[in-house]
Order: sequence, then C-alpha cells, then structure tokens
Amino acid sequence: MSIENIIRRDVLLKPLTTMKTGGPASYFAEPSNEEEIIELIKFANDNNLKTFILGNGSNVIADDDGFDGLIIKLGNNMSKIEVEDDPEDPQYGFITAQAGCLLSKFGNMAASEGYEGAEFSCGIPGSVGGAVFMNAGAYGRDISDIAVEVRFIEDGEVKQIKVSKEDFGYRTSVFAQNGRIVTSLRARLKKGDKEAIDALVKELRDKRTASQPLTVPSCGSTFKRPEGYFAGKLIQDSGLKGFSLDDSGAEVSPKHAGFVVNNGGTAGSKDIKKLIKHIQDKVYEDSGVMLECEVRFLGGSNE
Ligand SMILES: Cc1cc2nc3c(=O)[nH]c(=O)nc-3n(C[C@H](O)[C@H](O)[C@H](O)COP(=O)(O)OP(=O)(O)OC[C@H]3O[C@@H](n4cnc5c(N)ncnc54)[C@H](O)[C@@H]3O)c2cc1C
Repeated sequence: MSIENIIRRDVLLKPLTTMKTGGPASYFAEPSNEEEIIELIKFANDNNLKTFILGNGSNVIADDDGFDGLIIKLGNNMSKIEVEDDPEDPQYGFITAQAGCLLSKFGNMAASEGYEGAEFSCGIPGSVGGAVFMNAGAYGRDISDIAVEVRFIEDGEVKQIKVSKEDFGYRTSVFAQNGRIVTSLRARLKKGDKEAIDALVKELRDKRTASQPLTVPSCGSTFKRPEGYFAGKLIQDSGLKGFSLDDSGAEVSPKHAGFVVNNGGTAGSKDIKKLIKHIQDKVYEDSGVMLECEVRFLGGSNE
C-alpha cells in the first residue's frame, strides 16, 4: 500500500491541541508503526514539505493560518504499553510505552501495577513521545528520573539508546535535536506500597485541581521557570493575574498566573501571542527577568 493512502489533506489543528487554536495542516497523517513514519518523512522530503511531529498537542500553539507542510501525529495508532518484571532484580520492573500512549495512561498503569516513581506523570496531559522530548515533569520529578531506554528515528533509521539523566535538561532532551522522532520509552520502576502510591497519585491530582485552571483550554505553564524565580509569581507581582488585553478570550488565568488560557476557545494564536509578548515586556520592565516560552509554536512565522 502506498504511504499516500494514510495522508489526509487540510486537517484542522484546533481540535488537536489543548490550547484550541490552529488552522488546517495541508498534509496530515497518523502512522501506525516506525516504517510508516520513515516513509512519511521520505514523502515529505521528496515533495519538499516541512514536517512537524505532533503528540497530544498539549504544549503547542498552532498558528491561525495552519501549517503548510506534513503533520505526523503520534497518537492512538502507536500507543501500546507493556509491563514486565526485571529478570535481574525482582524489586524492579520495566514499562515500555509507544510514543502515542498518553502519559497519564502510562502513570496510571505504573500505579495500578504497584510501581512507584511515576506518580508525577498521571496529571500531565501529553503523550509519552512529547514527554520524552520535553522531559516533562512535575512536583520535583521528571522523565529523566525513570527513563532507561528510548527508541527514535533519526536520518531515516530506527535507533535505540540507553539513556541517563545527562540526556535530559529542564524541559528539554537530546531528542529535541537533529529532527529526532521518539517512538517509544522504556522506564525502570521500583515496586512499592500500592496504597502509598495511590495516595500520592490522589494527592498530586488534588493539588493540580486546586491550583490549575484545568477546565479552560491552555498549554499548562506558558513559560519556563527562570532560575531563582517562579514565572507565575513574577506575572502576579506585575499585576497581570486575570489580565486580558481584549475580549478575544486570551487571558492570564485568574487561578494560576503562570497559565495563559483561551477562555471559551475563541482566541486565535495571534491573540495568545500578543498577550504572551505583553506579559514578557511587562515582567521584564518590572523585574528585569525575561520570561522564556515553554510552549512551542507550530506554523506561522515560527516554523
Ligand atoms: C493543563 C496542562 C497541564 C500541564 N502540566 C504540565 C506539567 O505539570 N509538567 C510538564 O512538564 N508539562 C505540563 N504540561 C505541558 C505538556 O503536557 C507537556 O509539555 C507534554 O510533555 C507535551 O506532550 P505532547 O504529547 O502534548 O506534545 P505536543 O504538544 O504535541 O508537542 C510538544 C513538542 O514535542 C514535540 N514532540 C511531540 N511528540 C514527539 C515525538 N514523539 N518525537 C519527537 N518530538 C515530539 C513536538 O514536535 C513539539 O515540539 C501541561 C499542559 C496542560 C495543558
């Protein structure tokens, strides 16, 4: 079967991102295996198309004008997850998840199988691939604490490497380089006390629900944490908590100043970007700290 059979045209990005922005992608495909990803990249190269790898769209602001190229979405079609004991140490086990598996599913699977250390991941709405790329984390832990092996595609070839903490940084990883496409993660986790694990999952979920605007479209924290500061606190100190420039829907969340939200899903990427720029300018003026975006931009002048 030709790879063109799985490529769709003019697919709207807005429903595929948690910020709920984005016009159409001129080419779009959701591959089912690594071979299809390699063929899709080849198709894009042959046709001079840009590519963008989309996971669960929870950290991207897609441009109102869409994306003039091929979006390769790693989602349900590549979302297998497997748990096995560590044959060398019965205290440990491995969880291997494909890139399109939801991180929350991964975290909940670890908890339900009685493995500790992945509780932080249960409330992060990304895919496993996006989480590896971004080194997603929360409450003092991140992917680098549990990852032991990553499979990825680079230069048209599937590669698998053992990883250590040095391969990851704050909200970045070596997989954010050289057009690498993460296809699966293998994590090693220690068996723990099931009740304590469930209690921690619940505690972190309750903390999140109490402090974050989870029912309004957003990308989570808009900015990286600047060294020695908290972005939300700086924004709040600049008087911007709950602030909006206009009635587009783009707003600094009144619940958590670190989140730019899209109230009602009515704002476009240009409204959100305008607000982000305003926040950066005002915070810089007040504190001398330049906030750097954690969110990534898809399409438009940021390609
Ligand atoms: C309500 C809310 C709460 C959040 N809380 C947290 C939090 O506590 N901690 C945290 O770290 N983040 C948090 N986030 C942000 C987001 O969930 C994470 O950054 C997540 O890891 C992004 O994964 P994704 O699959 O959605 O990636 P996407 O948004 O689809 O993509 C993000 C980037 O990763 C790249 N990418 C995605 N998949 C792959 C792949 N398989 N191979 C190569 N590149 C890939 C994309 O090209 C893009 O550059 C939150 C977001 C929301 C909306």
